[in-house]
Amino acid sequence: MKPILPGAAIGVLGSGQLGRMFAIAARRMGYRVHTFSPDSDTPTGQVSDVEIAASYDDLDAVRRFARGVSAVTFEFENVPAGTAAAAAEFAPVRPAGSVLHTTQQRIREKTFLQSHSLPVAPFRIVRDEAALIEAVGELGCPSILKTADFGYDGKGQVRIEKAEDALPAWRKIGGRDAVLEGFISFAKEVSVVAARSVTGGYADFGVVENVHRHHILDLTVAPADVPRRVQERAREICRAVLEALDVVGVLCVEMFLTDDGELIINELAPRPHNSGHFTFDACVTSQFEQQLRAVCGLPLGSTAHLCPSAMANLLGDEWADGEPDWASAAALANVKIHLYGKTSARAGRKMGHLTALSSSAAEAAETVLRARRLLRRG
Ligand code: AMP
Repeated sequence: MKPILPGAAIGVLGSGQLGRMFAIAARRMGYRVHTFSPDSDTPTGQVSDVEIAASYDDLDAVRRFARGVSAVTFEFENVPAGTAAAAAEFAPVRPAGSVLHTTQQRIREKTFLQSHSLPVAPFRIVRDEAALIEAVGELGCPSILKTADFGYDGKGQVRIEKAEDALPAWRKIGGRDAVLEGFISFAKEVSVVAARSVTGGYADFGVVENVHRHHILDLTVAPADVPRRVQERAREICRAVLEALDVVGVLCVEMFLTDDGELIINELAPRPHNSGHFTFDACVTSQFEQQLRAVCGLPLGSTAHLCPSAMANLLGDEWADGEPDWASAAALANVKIHLYGKTSARAGRKMGHLTALSSSAAEAAETVLRARRLLRRG
C-alpha cells in the first residue's frame, strides 16, 4: 500500500483540541487538514484548511468530505458508526469503524477485552432493575454503575455504596443499558498511549501516571514512578489491545494499578488522549504526529522522551476571576502554554494545558502545578 505523502489532505471527524493538535502536527509536515463536525469556528477548524459544519448524520455531506481527502481519522470517538461507514466509501478510515464500534460502548468494550483475556474490573451487564439488583448482590458494594454509552469524564456514572442505592442510581442514569463494575481500590491510575502502523509496527510512549479531579484528568506525570515489572506489564497489555483490535492509529489504555501491583484496564480511547499531551513538548514524536504517520501509512517516529515532564489541565474554572495571568506562568522558562481557542470558558471545560519539562518527573509535576497556581491573580 502506497503511503499518503505530504501535500495530501487528511480529514478529521470531530473538531476539538485533539483535532487541533493533530492539525498543527499535520500542517508542520506539509499536509492539509479538513475537519468535519456540527460546529464552526472550532478548535480544529481554526487551524485547518477547510472546516465543514454539518451533522454527523448528514451522510451526503460526510461523503463529500471524504471525497476531498486522502484518509479520514477522528478525534472524537462518539461519531456514529454510519458516519465512519459513509466516509469509508471514499477514503480509508483509520482507525477503522470497527474499532470505533467496539470502543464507543462500554458493554462491547468490556466484553471484547474479557474475551481476549485482558484484565478488566469484575462487571455485570445491566439492562433492567432486576438485573441491577442481582448484579449488586453478586459484586457487592461499593460498586459503580456506568451507562453503556460513554459518558466521558465521569458523566453517566453513579457510585453505589449500599444495596438501597441501587434503584436511585438506576433512575439517575436514566434507566439505560449499563454495566455495574466492582470498585477497584487502586494505588495509582496510569495510562499508556501507543500507535500501530499499517504494517503492524508498534510504538508506545511508556507508562504515565494520572491524577483525576471530579472525574476529569488533572495532572499527568511522565514517566510514572512504578516498578519496571509494572511498566513492562502495562506496555504488554497495551500492545495486546492494539493488536486484538487491529488498530491503525493511536489508542490510549487507561489502567488502575491496584495495591497488589496488578493492572486492570479501565477504559480505551481509540485516538490521542489527554494523558499523552506531554508528548507534544517532551518527546521526539508527539502522539499527534504519530497518529498522522499511522493514518498516512508512514513508519512510526521515535517515542523517546527528551526529558521528564508533567502536564496540568486548564479547565474553564481558571477563568472564574477573569483572564488568567499568562505572563506569570510564561515567566517559568521550562513551562509551555497550550490553549485550544475555545471562545467561552465554562466550568469543567478543557480550555488548554500546561507542560513543564524538567530533570525529574517529580520536579516537573511541582513546576507545572506552581505555574498553574500563578495563573490565578491576586
Ligand atoms: P471513567 O469515566 O470510567 O474513566 O472513570 C472516571 C474515574 O472514576 C476513574 O478515573 C477513576 O478515578 C474512577 N473509577 C472509575 N471506575 C472505577 C472503579 N471500577 N473502581 C474505582 N474507581 C473507579
